[in-house]
Amino acid sequence: MSCIFCRIVAGEVPAEIVLRDSEVVAFLDVQPLADGHVLVVPRAHVAQLEDLEPRAADALFRTVVRLARPVREALGAAGTTIGVNNGEATGQTIAHVHVHIVPRWPGDGAGSIHTIFPRHIKRKLPEVGAAIRDRMT
Ligand code: 5GP
Ligand code: ZN
Repeated sequence: MSCIFCRIVAGEVPAEIVLRDSEVVAFLDVQPLADGHVLVVPRAHVAQLEDLEPRAADALFRTVVRLARPVREALGAAGTTIGVNNGEATGQTIAHVHVHIVPRWPGDGAGSIHTIFPRHIKRKLPEVGAAIRDRMT
């Protein structure tokens, strides 16, 4: 098994686990962006969010919701930035779905999700909306 997150899920590699159940494991990021930086992963090895089984997807998001308050309160944070690098092109370095929960404080020097995008917008909203709706099954 070469995937590091699969190995953490299996207990083969140590991690600071904060939650473990039948579908999901949550543990502290080994190189935290802030104190309390948590990663939530499905037990099943799936590279991208859209490939998750509905049951695993439900469990993953439920767990993120369940952890958001304890993570924030444990660190005395004002909020949390919650996000997924979904695909190698986005900066995803581990090809096993993981949701980042990062505590935030006023004036912590980090930006919002909006700050990572240079806004190179070329297409009109109705055209984009129609294209997405056409792809929905
Ligand atoms: P990505 O860039 O793929 O969204 O984030 C991967 C995250 O996994 C990084 O923040 C990195 O610090 C974390 N990480 C990588 N290897 C390990 C590990 O062996 N243990 C833990 N706890 N976190 C890891
Ligand atoms: Zn894996």
